[in-house]
Amino acid sequence: MADTVTPEVRSRMMAAIRRKDTKPELALRRALHAAGFRFRVDVRKLPGSPDLVLRKWNTAVFVHGCFWHRHEGCPRASTPASRAEYWAAKFEGNVARDARNRSLLLEAGWRVATVWECGLLGAALEPTLEELTGFLTSGGGRAIELPAAPVIPGRRRPAKASLLPGSLRLGHPLDCPRAGNALGPVAGGPSRQMSVAV
Ligand SMILES: [Zn+2]
Repeated sequence: MADTVTPEVRSRMMAAIRRKDTKPELALRRALHAAGFRFRVDVRKLPGSPDLVLRKWNTAVFVHGCFWHRHEGCPRASTPASRAEYWAAKFEGNVARDARNRSLLLEAGWRVATVWECGLLGAALEPTLEELTGFLTSGGGRAIELPAAPVIPGRRRPAKASLLPGSLRLGHPLDCPRAGNALGPVAGGPSRQMSVAV
């Protein structure tokens, strides 16, 4: 059966269908939003269609799947045993494209954060979010890659002293109503925690 629309229209319709949002990306979005950050998603007019763009912080964020984008040293970036040449070419293309997009954004004056999928799964999410929000609000540095090292399943990251309950560590605005819902009641929040600790 013939298509009911012209090839041009069909092409535009297909392009309008957003690629599927991945779970780690959604987890990052939720956590960032809860921490008071606002952003646009899947910004197609910028090089590489960054997954998140935080205009206020002049930052484009890419969430990279470790396998497709080749997270170096990450157990998730395995190489399939068969069709080695096919995969090598595909991976090479992805990595080159990522590097090119990053350069274009930096040249245009954007800061660029690359967040690897393995840093967003389970318990890895919180420290990664902390590092990302630190990068955003510090205004220092043009580009960052998170987490600093691939997250190996079963291996714990060292606990940080800053991992106290409460919203302060996320730079969360204290007057934000979400502080109470997402991270514990505002009354008796961080200060109560502190007095318990003492
Ligand atoms: Zn990884």
